Amino acid sequence: MPRVICVANQKGGVGKTTTAINLAACLAVAGRRTLLVDLDPQCNATSGLGRQPLAHHPLVAGLPLSDAVLRVDVPNLELLPGSRSFRDVEALARDNGTYASLLRSHLQNGMAGYDYVLIDCPPSVGQLTRTALAASHEVLMPIQCEYFAMEGLAQMIEVIRQVMIERDRQLQFGGILLTMYDPRLELTLEVEAEVREFFGEIVFQTVIPRDVLCAEAPSHGLPVIAYAPRARSTRAYVELCMEVLESE
Ligand code: ADP
Ligand code: MG
Repeated sequence: MPRVICVANQKGGVGKTTTAINLAACLAVAGRRTLLVDLDPQCNATSGLGRQPLAHHPLVAGLPLSDAVLRVDVPNLELLPGSRSFRDVEALARDNGTYASLLRSHLQNGMAGYDYVLIDCPPSVGQLTRTALAASHEVLMPIQCEYFAMEGLAQMIEVIRQVMIERDRQLQFGGILLTMYDPRLELTLEVEAEVREFFGEIVFQTVIPRDVLCAEAPSHGLPVIAYAPRARSTRAYVELCMEVLESE
């Protein structure tokens, strides 16, 4: 059985996709057979690894997911690309509970044979995010070190709680990750203090620094560990990976 980690936060631009790509790549480099699932209709994880979104997605059609899985330029890492047609899924699953639960089991069937599965969620608490949470063991929530970082998290946490109860606690809080961290900024340190005070030990020790190389890597279709192995953000994602591996 793979360990399934869902990367979620209803806010956009907090580093979900960057974290999903780079944590997946580091796990793969560490020798774990890893699948990255792009569940966002914007398909940034797909384009960030230099691949094209699918016009017709097997998840929508109920077909085997393995046919759509692609190799990428990192050993042990595979990608299930996203699709703009996920917008239809969002609507269908909202109106049809049977479809929503089929979606989850269908997603889970596609995960066999991997050590790790990372799911990149859209910036919402809609049906796609719920499906991802319901198919996961852990949720990793990136938080950007900026003003209003904690604003709007209550709704996200409520949805996570609901899924935890529905899934009889098969879903756990994998951790909060501070992203775009800049220790020269007073605000970063304030946000960090507030988040650590509020969430306690579920906050990862590792923080991800703001790093231009990290932002550039997707335009080359690569995770930062392949694009810039010595970058500060590479070191940070390797450290995050080690924290994740510690709890194997
Ligand atoms: P989300 O998936 O939550 O919307 P992204 O991962 O797409 O967020 O990140 C939002 C933007 O911030 C992107 O342009 C990305 O390249 C940039 N970014 C993410 N993490 C970092 C970082 N550590 N340093 C610099 N830029 C970053
Ligand atoms: Mg994203």
